[in-house]
Amino acid sequence: MERAMSKILLKNISIVATMDDERKILKNTDILINENRIEKIAKNTKEKAQILISGQGKVALPGFINTHHHFYQTMTRVLKKVTDAKLFDWLLYLYDIWANLTPEWVEISTKIAVGELLLSGCTTTLDHYYVYPDNKNNFLDIEIETANQCGIRFHPTRGAMSLDRDKGGLPPRRVVQEEAEILKDLERLIQKYHDPKDFSMIRIVNAPCSPFSVTKELLKESINFARKKKITSHTHLAETLDEENFCIEKFGKTPVRYMEEVGWLGDDVLFAHCVHLSDDDIKLLGKTKSCVSHCPTSNLRLGSGIAPIRKLIDAGATVSIGVDGSASNDSSNMLLEIRQCMLVARVKTGVSSMSATDALWLATRGGAKALKREDIGALEQGKAADIVLFDIEDIAYAGCGDVVEALVFCGRNFTANDVIVNGKLLVKNKKLLFLDEKEIYHKAKEIFKRDIAPNL
Ligand SMILES: [Zn+2]
Repeated sequence: MERAMSKILLKNISIVATMDDERKILKNTDILINENRIEKIAKNTKEKAQILISGQGKVALPGFINTHHHFYQTMTRVLKKVTDAKLFDWLLYLYDIWANLTPEWVEISTKIAVGELLLSGCTTTLDHYYVYPDNKNNFLDIEIETANQCGIRFHPTRGAMSLDRDKGGLPPRRVVQEEAEILKDLERLIQKYHDPKDFSMIRIVNAPCSPFSVTKELLKESINFARKKKITSHTHLAETLDEENFCIEKFGKTPVRYMEEVGWLGDDVLFAHCVHLSDDDIKLLGKTKSCVSHCPTSNLRLGSGIAPIRKLIDAGATVSIGVDGSASNDSSNMLLEIRQCMLVARVKTGVSSMSATDALWLATRGGAKALKREDIGALEQGKAADIVLFDIEDIAYAGCGDVVEALVFCGRNFTANDVIVNGKLLVKNKKLLFLDEKEIYHKAKEIFKRDIAPNL
């Protein structure tokens, strides 16, 4: 994305929650952005900038990092036949609908997801894209190019399914691919898009879908290939009791022990969910410094359970937050997910097991670590200029003591006032600057009628 201006000054921000190692909170502070990075954080700066944004009555935070999503699902939200279904039944119904994905569907769903994420204060996102009907590999290219035009920092995954029903898996034949085809396409995508440098806007991730939809061979070969190429790997794990039963029946072990067998543990591996874990599983994930994307709303919505997040953190695992696909959330709002994370942990392990600040930490520093990035996740000189401002002069925050934690405890629209990604202002006064919300809404309605409604 072209950057028109080189300097932005955020002037006199009421509260800056830095999310640095000391979790510093600064008052009445300026942040100067030069190109795509933070040049200075100080009081009363005298520098000139092309764009001046008032920080009065606002709280600044590093942009949130979403570590699990399925953008294409934004077009299959709240489908009546599966609003009350558990994961495997939900998937069995939706696979056949997703088998009719079209280029326009991929494009509009990307705009919906990225638009919603940006409005909620998210500046970096991963997307787990794993449906390639009839080997249409270029659908992920459409998603990557669309997300890039929208300006969000992006970790697209080359997802995959290779175990169809005839081989004992869950998905139908039409949406699975051969292992060789999957690995060849992963290599193509790395060559075409992957940028390993600091401030990178696109990094490709290796992401076979789940233990019940991919072969053991694909898991083994893809992790070796990913490590050779120095990219991270991602998959769903230990999401439901059905999955646990599947792994015990088929492999004679828990999903986590199965990952150990196929070489999938380590700080370069990010697992979505991790709801059903034994103490042994938790210890193993912690010892290997594996990463977890906690998706509390999806786990509640599908009745899957509540992940033992406090225990995972205490064991040494890296925990981050993901909104998960929009067919099981059914929203892409990161601030709401942070709130959900705080609330469910209190039910699972007690009221003191997750503070609002801890939940914000998981969505910033936890996300950065899970994506193996040191250039994002904190407001510090030299870091990427990924900054969000929330307007706290609002009735929803009236009467609050700690206004940073109030963003998690209180709220009515959970929308950021200003969002800057890589030094570019993408949301101003709670409005997307480069995406037309109404146009997206109407286009989505048209595509739903054409590509989805006839198959319901
Ligand atoms: Zn998912």
